[in-house]
Amino acid sequence: MSEVEKVHCLIIGSGPAGYTAAIYAARANLKPVLYQGLQPGGQLTITTEVENYPGYPNGIMGPQMMVDFEQQAQRMGADIRWGMVTKVELSQKPFRAQIDDEHWIEADAVIIATGASAKWLGLSSEERLNGHGVSACAVCDGFFFKGQEVAIVGAGDTACEEALYLSKLCSTVHMLVRRDEMRASKVMQQRVLKTANIKVYWNTDTLEVLGEHKVEGIKVLNTKTKEESIIPVKAFFVAIGHQPNSALFAGLLDMDEQGYLITQPGSSRTNIEGVFACGDVQDKIYRQAVSAAGSGCMAALDAERYLGALED
Ligand code: NDP
Repeated sequence: MSEVEKVHCLIIGSGPAGYTAAIYAARANLKPVLYQGLQPGGQLTITTEVENYPGYPNGIMGPQMMVDFEQQAQRMGADIRWGMVTKVELSQKPFRAQIDDEHWIEADAVIIATGASAKWLGLSSEERLNGHGVSACAVCDGFFFKGQEVAIVGAGDTACEEALYLSKLCSTVHMLVRRDEMRASKVMQQRVLKTANIKVYWNTDTLEVLGEHKVEGIKVLNTKTKEESIIPVKAFFVAIGHQPNSALFAGLLDMDEQGYLITQPGSSRTNIEGVFACGDVQDKIYRQAVSAAGSGCMAALDAERYLGALED
């Protein structure tokens, strides 16, 4: 039987949380091994310019920022590997993880930073214009449409929060709600409804995002009247929820009803000692690169403490 590789600290995922955990873990001599997953760099690799990450006074393109994070982690000595963790066994120690459905490795501590994925409507025009006016993050991209008309689809707390955010930047926010009521909390709904430059369209489906190379409008359908219309906008924000990338841990780690991993307040500790979670896979509220990076730091410090106690 071939020998199973043993690593001290395994990090799963390569967004700001995973790379920051790798930087801290490497500097603490935990010899972290990080598996990047299917989309090295995570959600930032599908955004354009990032202007709200401190330390980049002139902004930075999302993909480049993730290259910078990776290089910094490597320079600190983290072992960054291309590959996907396809299975984990967390009920015994050392923990075990299978890579690419093939070989297994063992780890004393595991840091989960697998992120979340925005849900999309699934329109081909939405996919084609992604990054060219179609966005799943108003806080990231709203600024680029200052003073212009934009649309947002969704009716949960995120959509309301993002519509309110956009209303402070944009001339008009057209908010598309597919039913005749919103799912968002009452207080958020009220804030939206009393904001003069947010126009809510009830019972409205998005049929198509219009524009050749950038967003020029959206075609919508009123499902009650069956009337189709075109709303001219420069940007289309999709805020219909996120899916935490936690399927790998189903039945193993505590998660909420939406699949977000549950960490103990003020820490990155999961319900299994030695397994830590950071970034969007455990955060459905903030979801920012900088907050993910901060929680990656927390996870590495928690892992360091845990591994230190193991050695004592
Ligand atoms: P939610 O799942 O709560 O809401 C998703 C919304 O998108 C729903 O209104 C849903 O409509 C709509 N939707 C889904 N699919 C489509 C579609 N194909 N076309 C049109 N509309 C669609 O996601 P959120 O991201 O808003 O929130 C996730 C969780 O995070 C919630 O628990 C929320 O309360 C929480 N949160 C809390 C915040 C806070 O406290 N400040 C801020 C942000 C989020 P329908 O209602 O018809 O199903």
